[in-house]
Amino acid sequence: MKVYSFPRGGLPYDDSTAPGKEAVVNAYLPTISIIPLGDSLKKAYPVVSIGECVKEGMLIGRGAGSGDVNIQSSVPGRVLKKVSWKDKDGLNNEALMIKLEGSFERLGRREEILHWNGLSGYDLQKIISDYGIVEMENFGRSLSEMISSARREKDKLTLVVRCVFDDPWLIADYALCRDNIRAVVDGAAIVAKACMKVNQIIFAVSRKEKELGDMLISEAGSLEYPVSLVLTGSRYPQHNNRELELALRAYEKKEGLNLGNFLIFGPAVLSAVHDAVVHKKPILDRYVAVGGAAIKNPQIMKVRIGTRIGEVIDQCGGFSEAPAKIVVGSPLSGREISYLNEPVGKTCYAIVAMTKSQVSTPKQQNCINCGECRSVCPVGLDPQIIYKQTRAMEIDNASAVGCHGCGCCKIVCPSALPLLETILEKNQEAVSA
Ligand code: SF4
Ligand code: SF4
Repeated sequence: MKVYSFPRGGLPYDDSTAPGKEAVVNAYLPTISIIPLGDSLKKAYPVVSIGECVKEGMLIGRGAGSGDVNIQSSVPGRVLKKVSWKDKDGLNNEALMIKLEGSFERLGRREEILHWNGLSGYDLQKIISDYGIVEMENFGRSLSEMISSARREKDKLTLVVRCVFDDPWLIADYALCRDNIRAVVDGAAIVAKACMKVNQIIFAVSRKEKELGDMLISEAGSLEYPVSLVLTGSRYPQHNNRELELALRAYEKKEGLNLGNFLIFGPAVLSAVHDAVVHKKPILDRYVAVGGAAIKNPQIMKVRIGTRIGEVIDQCGGFSEAPAKIVVGSPLSGREISYLNEPVGKTCYAIVAMTKSQVSTPKQQNCINCGECRSVCPVGLDPQIIYKQTRAMEIDNASAVGCHGCGCCKIVCPSALPLLETILEKNQEAVSA
């Protein structure tokens, strides 16, 4: 079967400190949960009072504005207080602290099943909105908002299930997909119906995980949408929407198809959609890859939303040495955290604790004109030139337009120059000019 990739740049990315594909370990239920209400960019307003008892899955925060989402409690308990903190990016975060009390409504009980085929697209979107389903990556965009914009598209759409694992820190999403194939497939069909414009569903799967692709296609045989499997390369950043679209356009051309615009979703959000619609269950937990050289026993864990990151690390045997940096998400694109009390949120797919030797970069040298940065840039930028222009105060912000921050240039630079940071800054200035 032919493999489709983006045409230029990129590089293989591996990390031996990431956990392997072994079985997923259930994290302990936290005695104290910190359930995020949002940050400076999006917010939910508490609908419960301090001291009030809440049930597992109960609405505790209501999204008020555009892009905001509802928040449910992942545990039963008593609301102790509202907490807030500023993260390393300067965003103000708010959360409700809940002490575990009472019995679980769902854990260990038989789940109810709703047959959703008779529901309209609007009914499905309402359920998705009520249960606060978000993209479960990046900034956690509201899925209901994404569905509304998809409906406004003039042409037909192709829904793409992205199972592209070019980054070893996406291993938790691989495990989630492997363990919840039916939920991912049904979630795709539900979103397709809610969008009302979807013509077909493509499962885009890394070539090295073809077996997973075959399982998805076999499960999807009963859907009312035409489905196909497209194998992609595993060169980083193949999973980025831009690079995935380029690979899919090559497939479209080769097969003589007209796929229209793409709606791309990872397995975590699709599985969450299935649980919300079929089991009336909000997002209570997240598969998280926990590793990095500073973690004693790296593993994939199923963690309740709101569990403190320090507790998750304790359950991996703690630190093997003092971490120099802890990142939520991939080390290439993730967010550094300041406190071990920060909670696991809906978008947290990895926790990486790095040692001093992992984060220390070689001393910066002058550019040696090796051309490596240019050759790996998937967008076709010339990081060397942009960096030199910036240093020489020759302002040309436009030359950085298109950079999507993959970091390939920074990884390969033998002179350890801060290419990524410089170019992202220029890109930002160009966008806001
Ligand atoms: S970070 Fe930007 S400039 Fe560097 S390789 Fe990626 S897209 Fe190109
Ligand atoms: S990779 Fe680094 S040293 Fe090589 S050309 Fe680019 S900036 Fe210069």
